[in-house]
Amino acid sequence: MKPPICSLCHRDQRDEPGLEFGLVYFANYESIDHPGHPKGLHWFCSDHLDAAKSLEYLSSSEALERLRRQFKI
Ligand SMILES: [Zn+2]
Repeated sequence: MKPPICSLCHRDQRDEPGLEFGLVYFANYESIDHPGHPKGLHWFCSDHLDAAKSLEYLSSSEALERLRRQFKI
């Protein structure tokens, strides 16, 4: 599992102790039975978590593309 770094703005929880992070499981999520980070699972900071969750029915690449457009990142 990757450490909490927002997949959209790339802020890192270790640099921003006051910022909350959450995981979003996108449509292309696949669980894995070995150490590592599963496909389709992304961290988002609290500024972007709600918007990311509203797109969890999409694949992660499609959702990230829409989020980048929405937030102009
Ligand atoms: Zn963010």
